[in-house]
Amino acid sequence: MNTPRPTILIVEDETYILKVLKTLLEADAYRVLLAKNAAAAEMAVASHMPDLILLDLGLPDQDGIVFLQELRRWSQVPVIVVSARNLEQDKILALDNGADDYIAKPFSAPELLARIRAVLRRRTGSALPEDSYNVGGFFIDFNKRSVSVDGQPIRLTQVEYRIVELIARNPGKVLTYSFLIHNIWGPYADAENNRILRVNMSNIRRKIEKDRMAPRYILTEIGVGYRMAEQIPGDKKQR
Ligand code: CA
Repeated sequence: MNTPRPTILIVEDETYILKVLKTLLEADAYRVLLAKNAAAAEMAVASHMPDLILLDLGLPDQDGIVFLQELRRWSQVPVIVVSARNLEQDKILALDNGADDYIAKPFSAPELLARIRAVLRRRTGSALPEDSYNVGGFFIDFNKRSVSVDGQPIRLTQVEYRIVELIARNPGKVLTYSFLIHNIWGPYADAENNRILRVNMSNIRRKIEKDRMAPRYILTEIGVGYRMAEQIPGDKKQR
């Protein structure tokens, strides 16, 4: 089968980084479009409908976050923010405004390519909701609402299960604390106060992880949120 190559739009005003990204992506067989500012990016999205956008936040004509907010009013194209702004608040802001993932500069090429593959995979696989999720011995059955690890059933409270389900339905994607809090405890819950979420996560990890200080299934993005592992290092038999 001859599947068309995914098209990636790079939105970046620094020529050097633009060249590095272009070379990297073309070597990995992606088609590449370039935009050096927000206005050109908007045109490129509207006329070429790329499969994914790599977005720098520091653009000459518009803040990348504002670009993202405006883009999300009319397009669901996946966006990975690639930014030198590396504060937790910047990552949270990007993710809560519709970015699919966030990678800090300077980035590692293999990591960037892996994040791109993960976002594209989620995109193509999102047509039907999955019945289950399975990674390295962790198994969740969304219909039976059951979780097991290495075949051993795990007893979770209602809230613990809902947290695990939400994270497992978005493997590889960072879910921010405020996203989780609003989805579990409702829109009026205090998203600034993530203590209850942390307490629940600590209990979940005690139940599902062999070593809860070095979790393998639900990973922490420090200060930002949680991410379900897509693959367990050293565990090649899963996929
Ligand atoms: Ca820039």
